[in-house]
Amino acid sequence: MLFDKVLIANRGEIALRVLRACKELGIKTVAVYSQADKDLMHVKLADESVCIGPNASTNSYLNIPAIISAMEITDSVAVHPGYGFLAENADFAEQVHKSGFTFIGPDADTIRLMGDKVCAIEAMKKAGVPTVPGSDGALPENDPQRCLDIAARIGYPIIIKAAAGGGGRGMRVVHTEAALINSINLTRSEAQSCFGDGTVYMEKFLQNPRHVEVQVMSDGQGNAVHLYDRDCSLQRRHQKVLEEAPAPHLDEEARQAVFASCVKACIDIGYRGAGTFEFLYEDGSYYFIEMNTRIQVEHPVTEMITGIDLIKEQVRVCSGLPLSITQDDVQVRGHAFECRINAEDPDTFMPSPGTISAFHAPGGLGVRVDSHIYSGYKVPPYYDSMIAKVITHARDRSAALTRMRVALDELIIDGIKTNIPLQNDLVRDGAFGEGGVNIHYLEKKLQLK
Ligand code: ADP
Repeated sequence: MLFDKVLIANRGEIALRVLRACKELGIKTVAVYSQADKDLMHVKLADESVCIGPNASTNSYLNIPAIISAMEITDSVAVHPGYGFLAENADFAEQVHKSGFTFIGPDADTIRLMGDKVCAIEAMKKAGVPTVPGSDGALPENDPQRCLDIAARIGYPIIIKAAAGGGGRGMRVVHTEAALINSINLTRSEAQSCFGDGTVYMEKFLQNPRHVEVQVMSDGQGNAVHLYDRDCSLQRRHQKVLEEAPAPHLDEEARQAVFASCVKACIDIGYRGAGTFEFLYEDGSYYFIEMNTRIQVEHPVTEMITGIDLIKEQVRVCSGLPLSITQDDVQVRGHAFECRINAEDPDTFMPSPGTISAFHAPGGLGVRVDSHIYSGYKVPPYYDSMIAKVITHARDRSAALTRMRVALDELIIDGIKTNIPLQNDLVRDGAFGEGGVNIHYLEKKLQLK
């Protein structure tokens, strides 16, 4: 049985995206919002809405008791966490469950397993997912000689990473033996103070990889499918800027093997919901780095090429229904790109909140805009600066990229600064046009400016 009423524990474009999926499924919706967000589009469109606290996200979108109370007073039966905020918070998932509600995502234990990268890597290895050569577990404390031996076996450069790390924090690259022990100690104490867990591990540092990720959907009842891959190599400070699906120019044999291993891993761990396996890809080989146990920002490019609504399917399987699709139903048609539009200065990348005086969205065949903004909407300074996603789809990569150039030319957002000039530049970049640039490409290009 599908849920009767779902509370959307998020804001902005993803809250609107979830609202649309629920409406199509005939599910009633509850929006929760901070004081600053009372004018959000999905708050206006939801069946009910509840203010859960003041502007700061720690007091609103991260306030677990306030969200659970909102579920109680509205008789919601399930909560969709979107991405960010509480989406990968195992304690939240657990408390939702203990309060008698359903968390739209995997079990708290699965979130916890994937949140500890040392455990996640071990589980993936068992399922046959290719991983980065590394320490095979946490580094020992107070045994510098063993750490030196492990690094020598892997070969420099290596990267030290916090088991509990996230958001690109808690990592340090080491190029020489002389710097190793000091770097381990520094990363350990940073990890302790940032994440409350000083466990660190070591991996081979790959020099020029691409970021390639595999979308999966699984029902926790023995059925799982992959929905092909995305390339998200265009990043600045580990933040993705422009994504595409499918990932171009990959070794087809390795690719198919990775798809199969991701599906097997989902079945092995009893995974439920939408998930993403993130890999680094270099010289024809894949190296697993982490699994995200939520829907991702860039999920629309996968929806465009497969025609499958990932949020609707995620809601369905988390309500206990079996997967409605088989692997044969997942066919790639064409190519898709997504440009993230941020309220930020295109040169300094400083956030640029304020009132949008005019907004015009591009349109036409194969153009999709996922956004909560409208003319007169005030972008608050308290949250993530992403305000829109422009997605284009066409029969091949070149046509989809052309379509993106046309779409960006039509897009008007006045009153605040945005990164549209940067996106305009990227969709006309020669190397990006060829496909397959690595994760350093964007930062190098920005330095040359
Ligand atoms: P987080 O959870 O903080 O995002 P990840 O493990 O996903 O951490 O790594 C974030 C980024 O750090 C990767 O996208 C990549 O750019 C870089 N990185 C991580 N591990 C390696 C590695 N072994 N070699 C090279 N780069 C790496």
